[in-house]
Amino acid sequence: MCVFFIVVYLVNSILIAINSLQYDIIFSGWGASACILLIEMQKTGNLKGKKILLIDPDDKKENDKTFCFWAEQEDDIYKDYSSIVSNQWSEIQINDNPAEKIYPLKYYHLNSIDLYNTCRNIISKYDIKHIQENVTGVYQQDDKLFVESTTNIFNSSFVFDARPPDFGSNKINDFHISQSFFGFKVSLKEGVFNSDAYHMMDFRINQSVATQFIYILPYSSSNALVEITRFGKTLLNEEEASQELNHFILNNYGPYEVMEKEKGVIPMSSILPKSKKGKNWVNIGTRAGNVKPSTGYAFKNMYKHAKSICANGEIKPKNVSVNKRFLFYDQLLLIILTLWPQKGKPIFEKLFSSKSSYFVLRFLDEKTSLYEDLSMFGKLQIGVFLKSLMYWIYWRIKSYLVPFLLVLVVFLSAEPNYNNQLSFTNFQLFVLGGGLLIVGIPHGALDHLTGFISKKNTISLKFILIYLSLMVPVFLIWIWKPSFALLLFLIYSSWHFGQTDFQHWGIKSKGFGFLWGIVLFVYLFLTHLEELKIILEALKIEINFLEEIYFLHNYFLFAALLLAIYYKKAEWLLILMFLFFAQFVNLIYAFGLYFIFHHSRLGWVHLKKKLAVSSLKMYFQALPFNIGAIVLFCLFFLNFKLSTEENIAYFFIFLSCISFPHVLSMSVFYKNKK
Ligand SMILES: Cc1cc2nc3c(=O)[nH]c(=O)nc-3n(C[C@H](O)[C@H](O)[C@H](O)COP(=O)(O)OP(=O)(O)OC[C@H]3O[C@@H](n4cnc5c(N)ncnc54)[C@H](O)[C@@H]3O)c2cc1C
Repeated sequence: MCVFFIVVYLVNSILIAINSLQYDIIFSGWGASACILLIEMQKTGNLKGKKILLIDPDDKKENDKTFCFWAEQEDDIYKDYSSIVSNQWSEIQINDNPAEKIYPLKYYHLNSIDLYNTCRNIISKYDIKHIQENVTGVYQQDDKLFVESTTNIFNSSFVFDARPPDFGSNKINDFHISQSFFGFKVSLKEGVFNSDAYHMMDFRINQSVATQFIYILPYSSSNALVEITRFGKTLLNEEEASQELNHFILNNYGPYEVMEKEKGVIPMSSILPKSKKGKNWVNIGTRAGNVKPSTGYAFKNMYKHAKSICANGEIKPKNVSVNKRFLFYDQLLLIILTLWPQKGKPIFEKLFSSKSSYFVLRFLDEKTSLYEDLSMFGKLQIGVFLKSLMYWIYWRIKSYLVPFLLVLVVFLSAEPNYNNQLSFTNFQLFVLGGGLLIVGIPHGALDHLTGFISKKNTISLKFILIYLSLMVPVFLIWIWKPSFALLLFLIYSSWHFGQTDFQHWGIKSKGFGFLWGIVLFVYLFLTHLEELKIILEALKIEINFLEEIYFLHNYFLFAALLLAIYYKKAEWLLILMFLFFAQFVNLIYAFGLYFIFHHSRLGWVHLKKKLAVSSLKMYFQALPFNIGAIVLFCLFFLNFKLSTEENIAYFFIFLSCISFPHVLSMSVFYKNKK
């Protein structure tokens, strides 16, 4: 009997423990977007009967932000938040120009603490729990979502993820600046603020480093938040901001006292970095793309997003819908602010002097028509926008540029009556030699930074020894059974080439990636049978069914074509065109072009993105292994007394030996990258 009770007790305890980790909804981050969504869920009756967990290291008890938005009094957003709106203005002022009415709109202000407290009130009424921890990972297994925190793994059917996205790679590859701001809540000795008008932008401050302006929210004639905002690559620091503010306030409003301070940074990026998501794993807030890239405003977008998630009385995994026309305008402006920061002030001043403030707010709300937009752009500095358009076009097509050039090069060197010889022109040797030195070898000389062997990212003796010892078995297999070594080389190269391409094209399927690698090699070899035979002879490998399978090459290319169309990848289509024309040029030249200017270049780009450093710094980091690889090659493999064919065979063996640890290293890198 006693044993029975112990068993029941234990089973019960286990069930309670399991149950305590299971939720209907988990919020990863309890910031503004989570609050807005919770408020909407309550309003639409979506909280009843749900067990909800909020995970955020912060307890949300500080008034850390000031949220403003413009709306009409009849708009839902105002009605929903009117109880916590603490201030409102009906006029806008730009520089020291006369204030302008924005009727029927009003500019509303609320304190973040009121938003968090509203949410706290909701939490107390429902089955909602907050734990003060960091989310360290979210992943999906079948239909269940798992959220890893510092101490536990929770599971749920829905996850709303508001962790800040990683803009690291945008800083290098895209147009990315930050909106950094620093403000004083001041009390003036003499009440001279116009409390009906908020100062949206006052450019009467230093513009030499970046586009920057003063933003004022006057709460009364003597109290206001006076903030300096910078749109730029470098962030405002507290000291320079304080000096600039002090100067501006004293000059324009007289003596003052600082009551509180506010600071913040909002990312302004031409493109939203990809954050993982899944079925019922929905990104919200900044992570979901709710921040308008050219202004940093997000409150209304988060509200719209929350409404779309809660529409029709049930929770749906809705993503943010982007208006491409307005995203394009935002991108043009970001290019200007990134490349020509001094142009920001005249553009904004021209905009507000040629159009009404009401129009500008409608434009920022993405509610204007194309005709209205064109008439607005016509009044702005058209020259700088055209220049920006040129950069935009380059930015959009740059990923297709190299594949396109590869097609062009191989097309121009194609000879319809190509006689399948292993001979190079001086130009081809120059291109391949230069390419190998510039990107081919360096891309593989950074394996100490991939997390492979050691996470320390340094070159240690242990690293070198393990790396070299991985090459030894490959070399021994070449001596023992060249045909087997070749097969292995083809297998791991196919895996690696396919993996690199699929990573770049954002395709998840590992199987198709491997298949694509196989197609690549098989197509290249089958379309260069005579050369292949010369190489095989030099490697002492006999394959006597090559002619019989020759017909397969077209099927392979066709299969890859179908996949490229299925995945809608234009870059892949260009590479297939390259492959097609490659049959009319020298095998080594065609493979070299692909290896250097496509495969190695992509590997380099991936490392650069992840490591977030310049190419120059990467060259320095690659130098030891670059030199090592060249010395190793000269010492062991390059023998000038041998024929071209034999040297090619030795090069092949060298490549397969040195590739093996590199393939493993990049697999670890891509795995960690996730
Ligand atoms: C100072 C400031 C003022 C702003 N003013 C306005 C404005 O007036 N109008 C407007 O429209 N927009 C404004 N914005 C922009 C935007 O509205 C805010 O950035 C808004 O807070 C974005 O909401 P969010 O939920 O994405 O991020 P947040 O509100 O920052 O919430 C993210 C939450 O995630 C938590 N978190 C971070 N990492 C983890 C982790 N690993 N695990 C768990 N939790 C984590 C954080 O602690 C935080 O609570 C302002 C932004 C700032 C910074």
